[in-house]
Amino acid sequence: MVFVLAFLFAVWLGSVIEWVVHKHFMHSVRFMRTPHDRHAVMHHSERRAPGKFFAKEDELKDYHLFETSFMPILWLLHTPLFLSVYWVLGVAAGLGVAAGTLFYVLAYETLHWHIHCPEEFRFRHHGWFRFLIEHHRRHHNRSNINYNVVFPIADWMFGTLSYRDVPAEPEQLEGVAL
Ligand SMILES: [Zn+2]
Ligand SMILES: [Zn+2]
Repeated sequence: MVFVLAFLFAVWLGSVIEWVVHKHFMHSVRFMRTPHDRHAVMHHSERRAPGKFFAKEDELKDYHLFETSFMPILWLLHTPLFLSVYWVLGVAAGLGVAAGTLFYVLAYETLHWHIHCPEEFRFRHHGWFRFLIEHHRRHHNRSNINYNVVFPIADWMFGTLSYRDVPAEPEQLEGVAL
């Protein structure tokens, strides 16, 4: 039970951290330059929506899981948090927070990659995944909304959640089964 509560808390925390990192590190040069250049400049210009949001077949090879993100390093940086929770609340809570945040990081890596390359993803027709594609496509259309990729609770909390329609991608218009 403690593990489950700690896990859920960590998913909420993951959403807040994702929002802060995406907004203040990946879309701002206030603290660091590299994440901004790799994300706001490179990723957003390569995957502008509408038009270039989905990667083409011949572009897939340039897209490697875990190479474009520093989220796994971010997770390791939170080790003191896991240890503090373990010391204060016990081993189940410590493991719950570590597992919940690890789940979030892995979900971020997997989902962000497949959102841009959905063809092979086994959950591509799932309602939640379709929602996340549109959520992220709006972010690639206007970069000051929808900072969450996995779980948009922080977008909702901080008032950046937007449902504004974005014109369809060429693949969607052609009815290609993504
Ligand atoms: Zn972005
Ligand atoms: Zn993206």
